[in-house]
Amino acid sequence: MRIHQFIAIAFVLILSSVPSPTSAHFFPNISSIPSSLLKPNATAWDSFQKLLGCHSGQKVDGIAKIKKYFQHFGYINSLSNFTDDFDDILESALKTYQQNFNLNTTGVLDAPTIQHIIKPRCGNADVVNGTSTMNSGKPSAGSPSMHTVAHYSFFPGRPRWPASKTDLTYAFLPQNSLTDNIKSVFSRAFERWSEVTPLTFTETASFQSVDIKIGFFTGDHNDGEPFDGPMGTLAHAFSPPAGHFHLDGEENWVIDGVAVNEGNFFSILSAVDLESVAVHEIGHLLGLGHSSVEDSIMYPSLEAGARRVELANDDIQGVQELYGSNPNFTGPSTTLTPTQENDTNGVPNLSSLGVHGFLLVVGFFIAFVYSI
Ligand SMILES: [Zn+2]
Ligand SMILES: [Zn+2]
Repeated sequence: MRIHQFIAIAFVLILSSVPSPTSAHFFPNISSIPSSLLKPNATAWDSFQKLLGCHSGQKVDGIAKIKKYFQHFGYINSLSNFTDDFDDILESALKTYQQNFNLNTTGVLDAPTIQHIIKPRCGNADVVNGTSTMNSGKPSAGSPSMHTVAHYSFFPGRPRWPASKTDLTYAFLPQNSLTDNIKSVFSRAFERWSEVTPLTFTETASFQSVDIKIGFFTGDHNDGEPFDGPMGTLAHAFSPPAGHFHLDGEENWVIDGVAVNEGNFFSILSAVDLESVAVHEIGHLLGLGHSSVEDSIMYPSLEAGARRVELANDDIQGVQELYGSNPNFTGPSTTLTPTQENDTNGVPNLSSLGVHGFLLVVGFFIAFVYSI
């Protein structure tokens, strides 16, 4: 092998190491799927699309329903008066929502906002006791400290598991009769938080006396937070030391792109990655609230078919503020915040660059060995 072969091999290796922009999805080529299989089920929030363009001062059928949506996620405090009037309360709630999700704060139900509102998401509120935590500490645009502020949040009062309790136990609702394959997803999800904190998580058989109780439920399950069927809210979890972790049993849960329940494979546009949701909800069980960093685990929305399981710097900084670091945890660098990574607009983030940079070095080494 000579120099031109070396260059050719190196070139191929460079190409193969560039991440695909669809790498966050486990259905890489959705156009290859027959259209008959692509009909998503109607969800509770689809009707919000007819409110496109609505703004303050209007009265439109369906406004009352979207007020209830905002109330559920903490953006509206009042418990009644859900009329179809687009009033100041709704406009204020909408602006806070838009700020939390990095949308233009127009106060109008514009297309980007509607598209965001109907995305499946965690059932936990973004605003607790009237205080929005998602953008807490976020400086206004143009501030010189824009890139140095974390966006993670905690529950009011910063509840956490006591310092004396570092080995947390968990168990699955016996009636769910989960397979080992499903249980292993939760084990992997716990492991991601264990790697960065002194906490360990151990499965036990005794459901009644464990710290964390995991169960799939449908509809009303007696905690005041009924599930809503496919899409909409996916799961919710309680702050420490409650330890309740509930998942909507009617979601089209998938593991590694494969439907958990046979017969659900057709609902590709409503597929929800179980591990992604598990990692997120465990964050709540440990005391983290929602974050406005889109790449973070604690970001509330998860698009159908998407997979997001890697802790971002924002998640790690948040959980380590509560529990400290795992003595064996060495990275990632905290000199750059996730905000800076987001600002690169489609350029691979630092963690993926790290992996691909490593592959590239290996590739060059192999090519070099073959060339001599
Ligand atoms: Zn959540
Ligand atoms: Zn529940």
